[in-house]
Amino acid sequence: MITDVFCKILNGELKADVVYKDDDFWVIKDINPQAPVHLLIVPIRHFLNIEDFHKDEELLGKALIVADKVAHKQGLKNGYRLIINEGDHGGKLVPHFHIHLLGGKRLGPKLVKE
Ligand code: 5GP
Repeated sequence: MITDVFCKILNGELKADVVYKDDDFWVIKDINPQAPVHLLIVPIRHFLNIEDFHKDEELLGKALIVADKVAHKQGLKNGYRLIINEGDHGGKLVPHFHIHLLGGKRLGPKLVKE
């Protein structure tokens, strides 16, 4: 059985602040926000990583559309940043595909912190 934290949230075992739901995705507030708005776009089906989406490329595209819709609903008129941490070198912690949506202030120019 898959027991990552996002599956637990989706199953109702753990609580989260949910800002958007549809048949394919939940969007939740990150528990440790790195910007005034820090959301996570999480597919309901368990996909480990991007490679796992080879089974359903359409859903991967939908994730970006959901992110953009939610960004507008959150009033991020001046833009936002999407981040996917992939694998060990990418810094991924939760083994359930998700996209970070950050905004609410001008974010720094650096993509990589040492
Ligand atoms: P990753 O490094 O895997 O891309 O990021 C995982 C993110 O999930 C982190 O930003 C972390 O703060 C967030 N996170 C970890 N556990 C929980 C949790 O139980 N609830 C919520 N809402 N976010 C979590």
